[in-house]
Amino acid sequence: MEEKVAVYPGSFDPITYGHLDIIKRALKIFDKVIVAVAHNYDKKSLFTHTERVEMIQDALKGHPNVTVESFEGLLMEYMKGTNARVVLRGLRATSDFEYEYHMASMNRSLNQEIDTLFMVTGKDYFFVSSRTIKEVASLGGSVEGLVPKNVAQKLREKFAQQKRGQKS
Ligand code: ADP
Repeated sequence: MEEKVAVYPGSFDPITYGHLDIIKRALKIFDKVIVAVAHNYDKKSLFTHTERVEMIQDALKGHPNVTVESFEGLLMEYMKGTNARVVLRGLRATSDFEYEYHMASMNRSLNQEIDTLFMVTGKDYFFVSSRTIKEVASLGGSVEGLVPKNVAQKLREKFAQQKRGQKS
C-alpha cells in the first residue's frame, strides 16, 4: 500500500507546543510527516535556519516517522520532490482562516494534485504563536509549558546575547 505522507511547512521561529500538537495528531493519520522549514530570506527571523531545524529535531527525538527538511521558494515546487500529496496547516482562530484559505486556493491552482489539510489547534494552544512566544520571552516572561524545554533555553540565551550586544 502507498505510504501516506504529509508535509507540514512553516517558519517555526521557534517551534512551539502548538506545532508539536499538530504533528503528533497528524502522525495518527499519516505514516510519515515531513516538517518543512522555510528558508525565507525576506522574512526576518529571530533564529537562523540551522537553529530552527536543530530545535525541531531535538524536540522530535523519538519520533522516527517525522523528518525535518528545508525548502526555499515555492512550496508546490518543493512538494514535487517528495512523495507527499498533502500539505498540513494548523488553524488557531478565524484570523488565521483568511490567509490560509487564500494560500491553499493559490497552491491548488498551482498544482491540483496537492490538497491542504487543516487541523484545528488543541484547546491548550489556541493562543500560542511563535510571535507571542518571542514577545513574552524578550520581556523576561515565562514560556514554560508552551514550548519544549530546549526552545525555552534557546530563547533565554538568544535574548541574553542580544542584551549584551546592546550594552557593548
Ligand atoms: P508560517 O510562517 O508559515 O505561518 P508558522 O511557523 O508560524 O509558519 O506556523 C506553521 C503552521 O502552524 C501554520 O499553519 C500555523 O497556523 C500553525 N500553527 C502555529 N501555531 C499553532 C498553534 N498554536 N496551534 C495550531 N497550529 C499552529
